[in-house]
Amino acid sequence: MIIDGKQIAQNLKEQIREQVTALTAQYGRKPCLDVILVGENPASMSYVRSKIKATEYCDFDGELISLPETTTQDELLRVIRERNENPGVDGILVQLPLPKHIDEQCIIDAISPEKDVDGFHPTNVARLWLGQEAIVPCTPMGVMALLEQTGTPLQGRHAVVVGRSNIVGKPVAKLLLDKNCTVTIAHSRTADLAAVCRQADILVVAVGRPEMITADMVKPGATVIDVGINRTAEGKLVGDVDFRSVEPVAGAITPVPGGVGPMTIAMLMRNTIVCYQRRINK
Ligand code: NDP
Repeated sequence: MIIDGKQIAQNLKEQIREQVTALTAQYGRKPCLDVILVGENPASMSYVRSKIKATEYCDFDGELISLPETTTQDELLRVIRERNENPGVDGILVQLPLPKHIDEQCIIDAISPEKDVDGFHPTNVARLWLGQEAIVPCTPMGVMALLEQTGTPLQGRHAVVVGRSNIVGKPVAKLLLDKNCTVTIAHSRTADLAAVCRQADILVVAVGRPEMITADMVKPGATVIDVGINRTAEGKLVGDVDFRSVEPVAGAITPVPGGVGPMTIAMLMRNTIVCYQRRINK
């Protein structure tokens, strides 16, 4: 089975759009997401375009704040503080990566945890790991939604997550643990990665290396979720999984593009609604 993330994300966005109509009628204003982009990194510009398109589709309010590459850390902090204090703004997203002269963690720390739609603020990270109500990062939530939508059994199954970044690997491992998977986190120092991956009933790959997971690393029938987005020299988008060789072995697999990517954006919309509702109910 090829897991159609694009279609599942589209269904979610339709539900969100209906929810926005109802919420706007109830509370008299739309959810509002402000997106901040610093510089002109082509990949970041493309991600931001997709996010803005989704906010328009879901009928959110919001602003795209495009700042020059030369923006100082203090200037960016000022923009964030303005949005933190603005009661009409529900969510603030700062597109990463930031230019080298800006300390990314300092910027993440400056976003109000209640408007932190990416779920990267230390308060939300801590709350997630403590099992408390948190804003959960979008890509890991998208991975879980795909598993849920495809009816993949999780309890008691062995999940292997390849990659231990703060934005994907670690939070997705925690969410799988919450669903009672037995979780292994593999990384660049893992010995015999192929043998570890072959144990996985559910294999989630977030490495950033084009097509590194090959058929011999996958247990027959496993569910394979490919988070990777890599651009080849020819300009083609490929995942971290060698789709062509793995697809016949896997029980279910996400394509790239059209798998996790659209789900990340749908979950960003969902997180914005969560922030809006929590702020209204406070
Ligand atoms: P990072 O570079 O932050 O982390 C990569 C992880 O992969 C690290 O933990 C690293 O291990 C591990 N790794 C690197 N090489 C190997 C190897 N040879 N064997 C095993 N593990 C290895 O990446 P991200 O988590 O930010 O992103 C991963 C991928 O997902 C990228 O392609 C990115 O573009 C994509 N992505 C896609 C999103 C989407 O919406 N679909 C959203 C976010 C990211 P170590 O810690 O030891 O260095």
